[in-house]
Amino acid sequence: MKKNLVILGATGSIGRQTLEVVENLAADYRIYGLTAHHQGALLSTQIRKFQPAKAVVTAAEQYQSVLAATPEWAGQLLAGPEGLIELVTDPAVDVVVSAVVGAAGIRPTLAALEAGKKVALANKECLVAAGELILAALEKEKTAALIPVDSEHSAIFQCLQAIAAPDLKQVHLTASGGPFRQFTTQQMEAITPEAALNHPTWQMGGKITIDSATLMNKGLEVIEAHWLFGLSYDRIKVVVHPQSIIHSLIELVDGSLLAQLGPADMRLPIQYALTFPERKGNPFSRLDLYQLSDLQFYPPDGARFPCLELAYAAGKAGGALPTVLNAANEEAVRAFLAGEITFLGIPRLIEQVMNEYDKGINRDLNLETILAVDAWARRVSRQYLPG
Ligand code: NAD
Ligand code: MG
Repeated sequence: MKKNLVILGATGSIGRQTLEVVENLAADYRIYGLTAHHQGALLSTQIRKFQPAKAVVTAAEQYQSVLAATPEWAGQLLAGPEGLIELVTDPAVDVVVSAVVGAAGIRPTLAALEAGKKVALANKECLVAAGELILAALEKEKTAALIPVDSEHSAIFQCLQAIAAPDLKQVHLTASGGPFRQFTTQQMEAITPEAALNHPTWQMGGKITIDSATLMNKGLEVIEAHWLFGLSYDRIKVVVHPQSIIHSLIELVDGSLLAQLGPADMRLPIQYALTFPERKGNPFSRLDLYQLSDLQFYPPDGARFPCLELAYAAGKAGGALPTVLNAANEEAVRAFLAGEITFLGIPRLIEQVMNEYDKGINRDLNLETILAVDAWARRVSRQYLPG
């Protein structure tokens, strides 16, 4: 029987690639639900093509136009963030691809796990901001599962299938280093949003592209790895690898390294998250080994890219400090793209907000306190912004 699949954030970079993957897995999956925020027109096109049972448009002003653009569709259109919860907890749903961007992914991802669904996770922000809650839901619900989509975590997950858990010493997350890897601090002061949105190896949504340029993406991924694989922070290393061919490595107790390699194409990790523990053929591009003449590896430069260190610090401190880091980063990226702060203003703002947070405030982490800390960090971030 076909599995019913929901894609949260179907109109985004990961969402659209998931639809390509599923077209290739059509014998196993039915598109049951699709969601979008502002991109009502693209959602309408997807609804007409895939005829899902349900769709959700979270930005309310798009609701009528999506309805008007899908007159022959027999499914149900839901609205707002509550619509996401209703969709993922629908008893007919088997698998949820969590691919909205940012902390907006916390509630629906958590709700899907609490309803015992299998979740293919691209939305790393929900693990950063609410890792403890996600893990608790996973532990409680026997049928719930969390499979990584992020390419580095998929690489580690794939390598881990080959070993016994006690044999793992540590993991090495690879980072492309982004477009400004070789910039001096002075050059970095003048970075424009246009330059930062131009990633050397990956085609992605705007927010993660800026995160890749600041190395905050790698910082978020370090915290993501901590929760996904149950590793302390001293067992999670980062190595800059500009070619993005090795997607990450695991190091075993005897010194052996296992790596996963592939083209910079998210469709493979998306497909693996859906077919795991099986594998399926596909028509996607393959790596040409003869083209791999020069693979490079460097240590990350914490002085020029402070975001990575801020993320390690937040992760090690624990509690709700990663929630603060994540929310302040989302506000900082928004402000940078709007021309309100400079590129180097991004880590400065995040550090200011982290310094203001008193860890003692929220000892008791639950959904309500996490969302309150998220809102607090956004308010404080805005107070620091000019104008
Ligand atoms: P994107 O900006 O291209 O797409 C985001 C999707 O989320 C869109 O469908 C949008 O409509 C929806 N959305 C935006 N704001 C929302 C809100 N407030 N409520 C509900 N839905 C909302 O982003 P993306 O690049 O596809 O990234 C999605 C997630 O996957 C991010 O967490 C990112 O870090 C992660 N990720 C992306 C890639 C990649 O290659 N793009 C790789 C690894 C991980
Ligand atoms: Mg990644």
